[in-house]
Amino acid sequence: MTEAQNNNTPLMLFNSLTRAAEPFRPVHPGEARVYTCGPTVYNYPHIGNMRAYVFADVLGRTLSYKGYVLRHVINITDVGHLTDDADAGEDKLEKAAAARAQSIWDIARHYTEAYWADIAALNIRTPAHWSIATDYVPQMIEFAQTIAARHCYELPGGLYFDVGSVVDYGRLARAHTEEGAGRIDEVDGKRHPADFAIWRKTPPGETRQMEWDSPWGRGAPGWHLECSVMSGALLGFPFDIHTGGIDHREIHHPNEIAQNQAFCCTGGLADPANSGANIWMHNNFLVDRTGKMSKSSGEFLRLQLLIDRGYHPLAYRLMCLQAHYRSELEFSWEGLGAALIRLKRLVMAVAQVRDRADAPAPEPGPRFADLLARFDAAISDDLNTAIALTVLDEIVAMKKVDPAQKLAAIGQVDQVLGLGLLALDRAALRLRPAAASIAEAAITTVLDARRAARANKDFARSDALRDDLAAQGVEVMDGDPLGWDWRLL
Ligand code: AMP
Ligand code: ZN
Repeated sequence: MTEAQNNNTPLMLFNSLTRAAEPFRPVHPGEARVYTCGPTVYNYPHIGNMRAYVFADVLGRTLSYKGYVLRHVINITDVGHLTDDADAGEDKLEKAAAARAQSIWDIARHYTEAYWADIAALNIRTPAHWSIATDYVPQMIEFAQTIAARHCYELPGGLYFDVGSVVDYGRLARAHTEEGAGRIDEVDGKRHPADFAIWRKTPPGETRQMEWDSPWGRGAPGWHLECSVMSGALLGFPFDIHTGGIDHREIHHPNEIAQNQAFCCTGGLADPANSGANIWMHNNFLVDRTGKMSKSSGEFLRLQLLIDRGYHPLAYRLMCLQAHYRSELEFSWEGLGAALIRLKRLVMAVAQVRDRADAPAPEPGPRFADLLARFDAAISDDLNTAIALTVLDEIVAMKKVDPAQKLAAIGQVDQVLGLGLLALDRAALRLRPAAASIAEAAITTVLDARRAARANKDFARSDALRDDLAAQGVEVMDGDPLGWDWRLL
């Protein structure tokens, strides 16, 4: 169990499968096993993608804070994800490799590393396992062989899963529209429009960079198969929680569930355990003003773009936490700026406490008990981080309390929120666009000269030095309420 004393509120989580908030009851006492659908590594992740992992991280941190031993798997999809989630189009990685005349393995490695850099910058804890899809191809073939006779049929294009062979197919999906489950695509011979390929044969005369031999010919596994196989292999069916973005609720996860039913039980979904996981959780989208965030249109909102424009990546994390994970969140630079100011205020307040205490006390002590209980209630209410943050504000604002105990209380809350409050240095939060041409040391030298001029009541020189800095894009912030002396414009 954790050292936290105030973590006893039952943890309620919204289950997309039952459409209700349910108490978390682990399959294995004392443990929490979570599988998160990871990125398809054919391009950089955008900040919307990263919202999915901030959410999964808060879930994992909450489970740890509640005292469960967490086993968390995030996969890396380096094969099999087609340009169309349903069942059509080209493999995203094969397409990127052909377009750039590069090896698919190099592309996968490059974007996996870029994704891991974003994970680290957002203070997302690394999971117990990063599972790489191409490492599991033999297990995928075995899985497919197990279910093939009763649930699949072969077409010239590959081995297809018959969705009519399992009970309650598509129960998870909400949108039975063109976008959702049930979309028709043209593959001759399919028994049902929603049937999907679990093994895709390489068409005659073609070679692919990634292909393997199988009982159904040389080819590659389907994307849905990968997640069923890796989650089952690493966590065992049924495991506790499966997460992903809401787009996965429509096609990818219903298809995973169908395969899991076929593999382990075939029972209906009135008992969620038959789906392979007891709880299916989905984060809503980060959208921009056009209502969609995509990797191909307009400005590519990568985390690195935010950093280049001078925003600390944890300001984006805070922006995510200010909304409930099931609500849509609109990205704007103003919103990000507001989150940065809020983070600065928190960090400065914590710095003042750190000036008065060398280290956190072992326990927060009774003065903080009510607030920590409220924090626990908020986070236990389907991860209500927005309310949890307001409780953090109250903790930070507490007057006449022992600073070491206050640090302990802040540390306990931040164990879940992951804002790095006990370690963040306020100087790191300064707006510092990559395009700025003036070095920080030069700014400090001019500011020192200006201070000396003011001390000598030489206001003309002081003003001239300020104008000098302004001409180089540096605003001098006399009397700033947050105590900043300058910022880059
Ligand atoms: P992908 O790399 O496209 O497979 O997506 C990785 C994760 O990001 C998946 O869980 C998606 O559901 C999720 N996702 C995609 N777009 C967004 C978005 N705009 N906001 C939040 N999550 C998203
Ligand atoms: Zn998946």
